[in-house]
Amino acid sequence: RRNELRKLIDQPTVSRDGHHVELAANIGSVEDLQKVLANGAEGIGLFRTEFLYMGRSALPSEEEQFQVYKHVLERMNNKPVVIRTLDIGGDKELPYMKLPAESNPFLGLRAVRLCLDRPELFRTQLRALLRASAYGNLKIMFPMIAVADELRKAKALFQEEKERLVQEGIQVSDTIEVGIMIEIPAAALAADSLAKEVDFFSIGTNDLIQYTMAADRMNENVAYLYQPCHPSILRLIRMVIQAAKQEGKWVGMCGEMAGDETAIPILLGLGLHEFSMSASSILPARALIKGLSREEWAAHTDQILSMSTQESIHTFVKEKTRSE
Ligand code: PEP
Ligand code: MG
Repeated sequence: RRNELRKLIDQPTVSRDGHHVELAANIGSVEDLQKVLANGAEGIGLFRTEFLYMGRSALPSEEEQFQVYKHVLERMNNKPVVIRTLDIGGDKELPYMKLPAESNPFLGLRAVRLCLDRPELFRTQLRALLRASAYGNLKIMFPMIAVADELRKAKALFQEEKERLVQEGIQVSDTIEVGIMIEIPAAALAADSLAKEVDFFSIGTNDLIQYTMAADRMNENVAYLYQPCHPSILRLIRMVIQAAKQEGKWVGMCGEMAGDETAIPILLGLGLHEFSMSASSILPARALIKGLSREEWAAHTDQILSMSTQESIHTFVKEKTRSE
């Protein structure tokens, strides 16, 4: 089976009925790139930049960040690279930043909320990203957007830094796409209006499930509620995909669910464009998708989304994939 999979390394990901989707990788550091390239990723769908900020005693400088982003873009050789701005807070802490203690950190000042609260922190990262954009196919993504106002503020800071760099004569790409993660139920429900203000969406199911089910993604006691294929979650995902398509924008997924073999046929049928996962899941996912008909799975979606439990959906998918 390993040898069969290796043959797929340089192949595009095309369903049995001829629809192309993109399989990208999630990375957390430069060290992950070797695996990404060795597993035939078509791009990077999520670079979690918080690891640049963690395990040290002071903030990384603009120059240091620039070097890292540039390196990743160059190694990926013009393949798309989605870099997510700082997503700190929640379970990820930065002792040197002296963040306020919060009783519900996952519902507190995290990610883009923190970045908008500390604009200098955010501007430094945006400048590093803008400078790196000249070296590849960069897309920038803001995490934890709940309302349009946060997106507008983040975009305004991005635009200001871009203009400043251009005035300084520094080379900046003119085609950087700007997108957001959809990982808060409010954003999924308002995806139709948010879609007008972005170039793309990436669905962060790790948090979207946690917030929809009101169940901490780390808490074993409520792990039974963590159900990627629950109809509630699938309905939100369908809303997001349809909203993006309505506006002609592309939509990916970078939560764990994107690499889940039971979820993939459903997501393909819903019309997801890009699946971003850990590098080791890419070749198995490509092999799976090559055997699936997107049109057939699209025809199943109404039935799947009308089921009442994750269990019945799992059973349905297993039976259908076995008979394909
Ligand atoms: C997510 O929430 O699905 C996601 C991809 O982001 P993270 O796991 O870093 O919160
Ligand atoms: Mg998240």
